[in-house]
Amino acid sequence: MKALDKNFEEIFGGLTNYTATVEANRCLYCYDAPCITACPTSINIPSFIKKIASNNLKGSAKVIMESNPVGASCARVCPTIELCEGACVLNSEEKPIQIGHLQRYATDWLRSNDVELFKAGSANGKKIAIIGSGPAGLSAARELARLGYAVTVYEASEKAGGLNYYGIVSFRLPQDVVEWEVQQVEKLGVTIRTGVKIGQDVLAEELLASYDRILVAVGMGKVPTLGVEGEDLDGVYDAIDFVKESKAGVTDKVLGKKVAVIGAGNTAIDAATCSVRSGAERVQIVYRRTVNEMTAYPFEYDFAKQDGVEFRWLSLPKQIIGDENGKVVGLQCVGMELGEEEDGKATLHEVPNSEFVIEVDAVIRAIGQTKHVELIQHLGLDHTRGVIDVDMETLKTSNPKIYACGDVIFGNGYGEATVVSAAQQGKDSAYAIHQELSVNSEIA
Ligand code: SF4
Repeated sequence: MKALDKNFEEIFGGLTNYTATVEANRCLYCYDAPCITACPTSINIPSFIKKIASNNLKGSAKVIMESNPVGASCARVCPTIELCEGACVLNSEEKPIQIGHLQRYATDWLRSNDVELFKAGSANGKKIAIIGSGPAGLSAARELARLGYAVTVYEASEKAGGLNYYGIVSFRLPQDVVEWEVQQVEKLGVTIRTGVKIGQDVLAEELLASYDRILVAVGMGKVPTLGVEGEDLDGVYDAIDFVKESKAGVTDKVLGKKVAVIGAGNTAIDAATCSVRSGAERVQIVYRRTVNEMTAYPFEYDFAKQDGVEFRWLSLPKQIIGDENGKVVGLQCVGMELGEEEDGKATLHEVPNSEFVIEVDAVIRAIGQTKHVELIQHLGLDHTRGVIDVDMETLKTSNPKIYACGDVIFGNGYGEATVVSAAQQGKDSAYAIHQELSVNSEIA
């Protein structure tokens, strides 16, 4: 674990010219390629790979970025083995094409070469406000700008990029990649107003009066509380805040400490591996169910194990224990067991007399994310437990002037909570807005 202390460099250094060319030449350039169907943004994967094989890196990057405005980020964070690489026909023969690494190779070339790929459309006189500058908001902004709309993006944080900028550990997604993608959108004339909170600095009425349509793409919020005693102790952290802080520089919050991360999703894995790289002495993930029910991807699980993260399954936190100075010294848990299935999920029961204490001096909560209910109510939108209700075809909300996409509608059966799915929804919502305004002959 010590070798990883303070190492926030990207895990993988990228393909060389030689390895990229060799890998590109392995592709069969399939007709009706299943890898395209498996990509939520439908990137023409054989086309971009063929262009790498013929050393046309600009053309390759254009194919990627045309379909996915955050294609450089997705090259790093997409669960490729679940998507394009999982569908590659070569899985049955040898090993799939390393599509993610090839996508990174082409987009890295683009980032280091000042090449203009897209232009703003001729101004059509219509104005769109987008709330949130994460992958969904950025993708919508780019497509709307290309269609000739005047787009203003409102971002509550100091920097644009949302989840990609603040919420994914820098050794998986460096901030300069996200900054570059933001710049590509700004180059099309999109205005990004950072540090502006809707409902405080700018009111919904002002947006509705000033813009032809509004798109809500704010993602999700902080980690909810555990509901156990001791959450206010010194040494208890929110995983989202913890990762965000690590991206601004190495945090000393867990230096030399024994850390318990509660939860077993991808954010929990990020918090755990980030703790390792922030100098934690020991890191344990505590989860009330088993490895079979964890929501983290298998490759994330493997990555955490390689980092030396330990896993305590079937353990439910009951209390965070503090010392006389209010500092965390332990996590009291109870053992759990799985019971009969109900609604496709095993029931959970506490095992009698199974209480135990894990000796820790830091606890990181990573049990999901809250919804932006306050903002949704300020906008006056119908929602179901914080998930904005939308028409699945058009992504239109209960207010006909307001659309929504990305994680803020995740949970209504639409899309997945992934960066690439958010990017596609951003595109979809842009086209839906354009379709409506065009059909209504509001655009010449
Ligand atoms: Fe190439 Fe595999 Fe896609 Fe076929 S399925 S085009 S071999 S990446």
